[in-house]
Amino acid sequence: GATIGIIGGGQLGRMLSVAAARLGFKTCILEPGGDCPASHVANFHLQAEYDDEQALERFADAVDVITYEFENIPTASLDLLETKCPIRPGREALRVSQDRLTEKKFLRDLGLATAPFAAVSDADGLKAALDEIGAPAILKTRRFGYDGKGQARLKGLEDADSALEAMAGAEAILEGFVDFSHEVSVIAARGPGGEVACFDPGENVHRDGILRTTSVPARLTAGQRTDAVLLAAKILNALDYVGVMGVELFVTNQGLIVNEIAPRVHNSGHWTQNGCTVDQFEQHIRAVAGWPLGDGQRHADVVMENLIGDDMDRVPQLAKEADTALHLYGKAETRPGRKMGHVNRILR
Ligand code: ATP
Ligand code: MG
Ligand code: MG
Repeated sequence: GATIGIIGGGQLGRMLSVAAARLGFKTCILEPGGDCPASHVANFHLQAEYDDEQALERFADAVDVITYEFENIPTASLDLLETKCPIRPGREALRVSQDRLTEKKFLRDLGLATAPFAAVSDADGLKAALDEIGAPAILKTRRFGYDGKGQARLKGLEDADSALEAMAGAEAILEGFVDFSHEVSVIAARGPGGEVACFDPGENVHRDGILRTTSVPARLTAGQRTDAVLLAAKILNALDYVGVMGVELFVTNQGLIVNEIAPRVHNSGHWTQNGCTVDQFEQHIRAVAGWPLGDGQRHADVVMENLIGDDMDRVPQLAKEADTALHLYGKAETRPGRKMGHVNRILR
């Protein structure tokens, strides 16, 4: 059978590996850490840095297609891998999503609504951006941010110094604060032949910048649901995308506003493991392997709850709950703010 290469060995790589195994594929993960979640379930673990040229060549030679669980892969590494093996989703999706400024411009050029934004490199730039966009606002590093890290909220000009300090010299983007009623996301998939399948949008609640719960169905009108799916399809088509993507949206009185996109399986799609016949992980494997996509049909109402840090103490209790599926990542060490697992509660 074919071997799928996965860059990154966290929980997403782990769940992709499990899904691949169910379809008869082998997986090889590339990940510098030793005892990582995906290494427990993948067939092969190439333990090397993401810029180790020799390791990259061995990796590309050992696999039939390369995919990834995170978007911050060095460009030079992708250049090298691409000469030897197809990368799915493709380079354009990575180029666009590695930089919040490039991503926002891409979305705006597609005609989609985003928060007002401006690039910020220094104190003068921040002042000018605040003048243009107004307050409240959020300053974010353009690259490498996740789980709300690398962000600072500004009530006004008085917060400019501390916000800029939080960027630690990194290039940043200032975003106007969107007055949303709630947040939803679309987990969308596109195959190499251009077919698109979307899961039902989920409603997301964050705490301390980290996703806490995703509930389906989300509170959306039929029109909003259609809008959400159509705009996701527009994004995937524009990138000639192959694989699963997470599209995060703000719901406002003025319509849906795109927050960000993630060119990979997404935490807010974990509910599909127990709410759909084909979940987001299998869907991604199907897409990158060129199989027909599953239809994304939902057969239950689900609430996904992330288990973060000390939430792990609740596992013995959770294991006794009816209609509750536990998914644990096998991380050796519990740390505050660290995603350790999740539960999917089926509501009947
Ligand atoms: P993720 O873990 O989803 O990748 P991230 O670190 O990339 O998160 P964002 O998704 O940009 O960060 O922001 C995290 C959360 O902060 C959002 O889900 C939303 O709740 C809030 N937020 C971000 N940008 C804005 C904005 N412009 N207006 C209002 N709230 C925002
Ligand atoms: Mg993000
Ligand atoms: Mg986000």
